[in-house]
Amino acid sequence: MLRNSSVLVVAWFLMVLPCAHGSVDGNWVRVGTVLTPQVSTEGSMSPADLVIRNAKVVTIDRDHPRAEAIAFKGERIVAVTTSDGIERYVKEGVTRVIDARGRLVVPGFNDAHIHFGPVDPDYIDLRYVRDPAVITERVKEAVAKAKPGELIRGGLWEHEMFHDRQWPTKELLDPVSPHNPVVLSRADGHSVLVNSYVIRKSRITRQTPDPAGGEIQRDPATGEPTGIFKEQAETLLKYGDKPVRRSAREKQERLMREWQAAFDLAARTGVTSIQLASDGDCQIYQRFADMGKLTVRVSVGGSLTDNKAKLNHYRRLLEKYPREGNWIRFGYLKGFIDGTLGSGTALFLEPYVDVPDTTGLAQMSYAELERRVAIADKAGFQIGIHAIGDKANHWVLDAYERVQQLNGKRDSRHRIEHAQVLSDEDVPRFAALGVIASMQPTHCITDKRFAEKRIGVERCKGAYAWRRLLDAGATVAFGADYPVEPVDPLEGLYATVTRKDRMGEVGDGWFPDQKLSMEEAIAMYTLESARAEFMEDRKGMIKEGYLGDVVMFDNDLMTVAHDQIMSARVAYTIVGGKIVYRRSDID
Ligand SMILES: [Zn+2]
Repeated sequence: MLRNSSVLVVAWFLMVLPCAHGSVDGNWVRVGTVLTPQVSTEGSMSPADLVIRNAKVVTIDRDHPRAEAIAFKGERIVAVTTSDGIERYVKEGVTRVIDARGRLVVPGFNDAHIHFGPVDPDYIDLRYVRDPAVITERVKEAVAKAKPGELIRGGLWEHEMFHDRQWPTKELLDPVSPHNPVVLSRADGHSVLVNSYVIRKSRITRQTPDPAGGEIQRDPATGEPTGIFKEQAETLLKYGDKPVRRSAREKQERLMREWQAAFDLAARTGVTSIQLASDGDCQIYQRFADMGKLTVRVSVGGSLTDNKAKLNHYRRLLEKYPREGNWIRFGYLKGFIDGTLGSGTALFLEPYVDVPDTTGLAQMSYAELERRVAIADKAGFQIGIHAIGDKANHWVLDAYERVQQLNGKRDSRHRIEHAQVLSDEDVPRFAALGVIASMQPTHCITDKRFAEKRIGVERCKGAYAWRRLLDAGATVAFGADYPVEPVDPLEGLYATVTRKDRMGEVGDGWFPDQKLSMEEAIAMYTLESARAEFMEDRKGMIKEGYLGDVVMFDNDLMTVAHDQIMSARVAYTIVGGKIVYRRSDID
């Protein structure tokens, strides 16, 4: 069954692909399809609750790839048609109408691999900061809101992105934070920048030796600590902060606010569905749902285990939050077979190029993997296993193949999370076995900096090989792996269509034959992600009868220059027919 649907996807691409290169007519890319109104079969036309008109709708529906207008009633889409055809759904005083003014509307993004959780509103987010003076500004603002002695936390800075590419120093922080400890992590989490307050409280001086496996960065002229502490040197730090006193009730309220911030982050980036790549707390989502404030659909995961009690717990969750649900559902059991390329622990068939005495680290033996997969498969669970290296992927495919023989083949849609580096023989096995490749395009543009150094050019031909997998008939679902990478789907779309780093670079990108078109990239992030969670019959397309999850952008991603993709912004996010985000300055 899955194999057949995969073939359909390929056929769909053959139809849709020319769209991206179709004739441009003003704001429109028209294709061979005639825009025909989809009229409700119920006879009399009841007015819609919400209508979007004058839009450029990229539906990801192969039967009607383009439209101009959408009508929503309740949480569903009731019409996808022309701006003229939509008028019959509009009734004054009943229907809210959004004039899109030609803007792009696509299905809501469905992140197939995410580690979602509460966002500390006081955490200073420094991702992509290019001017170090911004760090000083943000810390100053945070200190103004804090009491003396309270810890100021933040991070995600990356000095390679600064204009001068120099490591930041405590001098950026000291003038604005004389009475508070400040700790700002680097994006990779392997170094921190602290202020003199922390260095003093930690009793670290120029005489303090570097600990094993760590480095206290020092000023080459004076020998004084610069404020940068790498790896194990972080363990020397004592923040000396005064803990903020909070009652149990205050703590609870704060936690709810942090979750609200997470939902707001999803809403303003157009993420309308998430699939947790780990255990999650169904109750917190249920609480927001009960309050009518859940704005993202969620599949909560579990861990691949042979523990009977745990499996029973997951079974109960699956019964309580079944696949038929549309908001909170139980997803798949997640396992790990190897590590990462960056840390040199991904499992390969041949040794690493830069460390020839290792092929990586298996998290368990093949026999153990097969045993666990067999148990979970027999119990009816969907399984997703983290596999980065070619050997790791080979093992997981072997295990999935073996359990089809043992337990019988069904529409199990087992997944490989990341599927980063594949050997030639394994590429076609995804489609043959009905295994979903759950991939994260931003990992490609982050890892390409060191991938060839680690594993050589030859193996990189099978790295992040989206095009090869699609050509072989596989289902490829996209996600961000947030917070490892930013949650914003625009970064994934940019990575998919360029395979260039975020600063842009000359040339055609890294292994450019693996790039996808913008429309394909959107499909991987919507319809194919829905397929990965058994929801393609009601989610992932802008189609009559489907759930009313759509996103409007202020810039046309289909035609915009590549270097403008990531600066496009969401104008509206609509989930279940309700506006959950509207940019304040949008007309
Ligand atoms: Zn992950």
